[in-house]
Parts: sequence; C-alpha cells; structure tokens
Amino acid sequence: MTQSLAPEHVRAIAPYQPGKPIEELAREFGLDPASIIKLASNENPLGCSGRVREALSEAAGTLQGRYPDPNGFDLKADLSARHAVPASWITLGNGSNDLLELASLALLDEGTSAVYAQHAFAVYRLATQARGARHLMVPARDYGHDLPAMLDAIADDTRLVFIANPNNPTGTHVPADQVKAFLDAVRSRHGERVTVLLDEAYDDYLDPAERVDSARWVQEYPNLIVTRTFSKAYGLAGLRVGYALAQPPLTDLLNRVRQPFNVNVLAQLAARVALADTDFLARTYALNRDGRAQLQGAFKSLGLDFVPSHTNFVLVRVGDAPRINTELLRRGIIVRPVAGDGLPQHLRVSIGLPQENARFVEALSDILGT
Ligand SMILES: *Cc1c(COP(=O)(O)O)cnc(C)c1O
Repeated sequence: MTQSLAPEHVRAIAPYQPGKPIEELAREFGLDPASIIKLASNENPLGCSGRVREALSEAAGTLQGRYPDPNGFDLKADLSARHAVPASWITLGNGSNDLLELASLALLDEGTSAVYAQHAFAVYRLATQARGARHLMVPARDYGHDLPAMLDAIADDTRLVFIANPNNPTGTHVPADQVKAFLDAVRSRHGERVTVLLDEAYDDYLDPAERVDSARWVQEYPNLIVTRTFSKAYGLAGLRVGYALAQPPLTDLLNRVRQPFNVNVLAQLAARVALADTDFLARTYALNRDGRAQLQGAFKSLGLDFVPSHTNFVLVRVGDAPRINTELLRRGIIVRPVAGDGLPQHLRVSIGLPQENARFVEALSDILGT
C-alpha cells in the first residue's frame, strides 16, 4: 500500500535515530527521571547561559503575536561582527540541520550526487536521499574523513560534498592545512560546479591551536558553505538555531528554499545573548576538556579502545554494544548506540558533568566486570 504513496528514494530512507529522551527511559524502566543521566545527544551539561535564561523569561512576559523577523537582522548583525563577513553572507537556520537540508534542496536533484564520509553525520545521507540524489559514501580512514579519497570520489554529477570537522559520531578532526588543500584541489579540478559544505558544529571544543578562521576561507572560496550551531557549546539545542556563511550567490540559493520564518523569536534572541556570554563559553570549553580527559583516562584503565576526541563526546569500543547499552539503560544511563553509523561494537558517550562521567565509568566498569 505505502509503495504507491511515495517515491522509491523516500521509501529507502532509514529514519534518524535520536538519543533516547530521559522521560522515555523513565517510563520504560520505571525510573525516577531525576536519577537518570543522559550522555547521548552531545548537549551542554551546563545547560545554557544564565543570561539567556533571564533574557528568555523577560521576553516571555512581553511576547507579541507577531511573526519573527524573517531576515534575522539583529542576530545577523552580531554574527557579521563576530566573523567579519557581511550580514548578506549569513543564512539562519532552525538548527544547523536546517541548513544541511537547505543546501541539499538548493543544490541536489535526481540525476546528481553528493559525497560524504563513512561514519560521518547521519543527516548528510538523509538530506541526499530525500532529494533522490545518489549518495557516494567514501570509506573512512582511522574513523575520520579520507579527503584525498573523497576528492577522487567526486563524479561528473556531484554537486555537493559534506565534511564534518570535527566529525560526529567519531570525534575525529582533519587539520586545517588538509582541509585547505582539499578546497584548493576541488576548485582546480571542478571549478565552482561542486559546493563544499564544511559543518563546524563542534568547532568551539577544539584546542585553540587547532582552530582556523573558516570565515576567511569563505571569502576565498565561492563554492564553500560553512555551518555552525548554537546547539552544542552554546547550550541552545532545544531552541533550534544555527547559521551558514557563504558568498552571496550561494547564500541567495539557500534563501530561495528557506521557509520565511524558520527561526523563531525566542531562538533569535537567545542566540544573540548566548553569543555575547563569552564566560559561559569558556566554562563550557574547560569543563569539556577536563571531562574528556576523565573519560579517556578511564577507558585506558579499563583497556578499552577509543577514538581520541576533538569534541564533546568520545567514541569507545565496548564489543557487545547492544548488551552493554541495555545494562547502562537499566542503571539509568543513556548513551548512544552507533550501529546505524556502521559502528556496531562502539558506543558514543557525550561528556557530562564530572559526577555524571564518574557514574557512567563506574557503571561501565561494573558491567564489564573489571
Ligand atoms: C549536532 C550536529 C549538527 C546540528 O545540530 P543542530 O542542533 O541542528 O544545529 C550538525 N552537524 C553535526 C556534525 C552535529 O553533530
């Protein structure tokens, strides 16, 4: 029956599998929600900035029945100052996921293809499949993007290349000089026919020495889209706001397929306040750096292989991941199985507060009998 309702490429889609919500686990296992820890969706364990919370309560009191600013004037002005690019180079999204969709809507169609890496962010495949485009998945190297192989995989019908740097769910990072070399090679081989989307959702967690001013690259490469999000380090996952930087011709295309009111009033406000709270961002960074050392140190002592992380989560090989995941859930701990990403022996663990990390390590060690 359903066969006649939708095109083949839509029926072929395996839906995105989100981290299990706390309330759902509480219902399933009869647990107290307050006793559950969720280390499954790379959210900020500090929540969001107190200043954001204050601004939102105040705004709730004066909420109007108006649509949001469809052009996000104020937020774009702040982002323009932050990245030193004109506001006309910025597209706002309902989360950066929205921007991945917009890029695929604007650039892909049946008869075209997109290139992305094995074990890369699952949405690249979904956004490509939804357009009926071919997806060219390039095998990973050491769990990360193999950019030379991705370059060679670009076909005559390729319109879009997705790169997550750092990557989710593996936590790997390609050094800036290699990304730059890739951008040069794509341009010299294919001109502006192929757009590269560089997804920097985890940029704020990089060691400062590893960071690069990718807004400068946007000025240099007319075929580059850089995306960022407020969901991770800024703690606004529930409000849904992200943005893309690209030169005007690409920005114009994204804007053509964008819903006019895709970013709501409170999200626009929260993003502005969050952007200004640099102390909160610094605390987030430090907490994450220490929590990463805590988790990776524990994995070492437990003799577990893990992928050294450049993000706010760690990918660890536990062997029988389904069993260990179930045992963790029984103990009120939610992490992320990644079999759907081609990693059936691994779990992805978001870095939490020190006491949350400790409780997870204790439970894991108990389950493994070590
Ligand atoms: C979390 C994530 C995003 C986007 O999340 P939004 O909440 O939609 O902004 C994008 N890319 C990667 C690689 C991510 O892990």
